[in-house]
Amino acid sequence: MVVGGINGGRLNIDLGAIAANYRLIAARVAPAEVGAVVKADAYGLGAAEVAQALRRAGCRLFFVAHLGEALALRPALPADISLVVLNGLPPGAEALCAEAGITPVLNSSEQASRWAEAAQESGKRLPAALQLDSGMGRLGIATGDLASLAADARFRSAVDLVMIMSHLACADTPGHSANAAQLACFQTAAALFPGVRRALANSGGAFLPADFHADIVRAGVALYGGAPNRTSPNPMQPVVELEARVIQIRTIAAGGAVGYGHSHYCERESRIATIGVGYADGLPRSLGNRGAAWHAGERLPIVGRVSMDSITIDVTALAPGRIEAGDWVELIGPHQSIDAIADDAGTISYEMLTSLGARYDRTYGPATAYHREKAA
Ligand SMILES: *Cc1c(COP(=O)(O)O)cnc(C)c1O
Repeated sequence: MVVGGINGGRLNIDLGAIAANYRLIAARVAPAEVGAVVKADAYGLGAAEVAQALRRAGCRLFFVAHLGEALALRPALPADISLVVLNGLPPGAEALCAEAGITPVLNSSEQASRWAEAAQESGKRLPAALQLDSGMGRLGIATGDLASLAADARFRSAVDLVMIMSHLACADTPGHSANAAQLACFQTAAALFPGVRRALANSGGAFLPADFHADIVRAGVALYGGAPNRTSPNPMQPVVELEARVIQIRTIAAGGAVGYGHSHYCERESRIATIGVGYADGLPRSLGNRGAAWHAGERLPIVGRVSMDSITIDVTALAPGRIEAGDWVELIGPHQSIDAIADDAGTISYEMLTSLGARYDRTYGPATAYHREKAA
């Protein structure tokens, strides 16, 4: 990890932990295959780096949201590795997608007939996945339209259906009744396509009973260390470490105010450290007067508002000398998980991860702070 650093924060991404998380999910859902969801630049962690690490761990199937993401990632992956576009294709993008060897998800009858047409024009059977809306009310084909597609001889001969999929709305809440309802709907619809591989589960779904795993699991956040559900301890290895540098420490007199809008008044004389990361680096403004950073085993509350490039924390609990300008404080690490800081911010690990800005000194290596902590 960079010791000096030229920015206010440093972000380390442990690719070994991502590979370990992949293996953990794969072992849990076997014989189902695990595909990796690397949309949004692998949840902000770097799609090319993450995809390479996962490929070395045995992953042969990757999902992104948009064709643009797939086109950017395609050259980084060998041709025999499948790349699937979850959001489907806008009209007119079919030839581009087909030529690049990318598999679209067909989310509507219109998308399905356009893809069949593109296949006929190209003279090749083109691969596609088919998405059913089993109750999320977002993307996908309604059950009724699926039956007519199953019976459509032109579509079936033009398109090589490699997967039928659906998406769970409540997989992070294992006891939610919607899970069983979506599973039943999905199984009934998938039976219209015998022999086509089935995919229903995301990270949360991987930790539901085996029925939910079907043939393919699409794992995202759990690969990146996020908790797959809200009900049991997180079994995943932490992936992200985020530290910020103390720029300056000032003593503020009792009654003195801190930051924009004077949203914090010091009740007693306080030592206030300014650290060099802010909302432009993906730390939500909602952490103002709520969250904390950690140093020397001490929780140091965020006081005042989150600024664009800095945050102020109360370090009075640490004697002078235990924290000084130039020291690093932990924002995500052994004392504060990605889910914990997300909770403090009133959001979820997904949004924290995808917000982590481009302004950090970014390294890919073993999670040093976690190892240090374990050894201590
Ligand atoms: C994002 C996404 C996933 C991955 O979800 P996680 O909860 O991050 O595992 C899986 N399937 C679809 C359709 C998605 O959009």
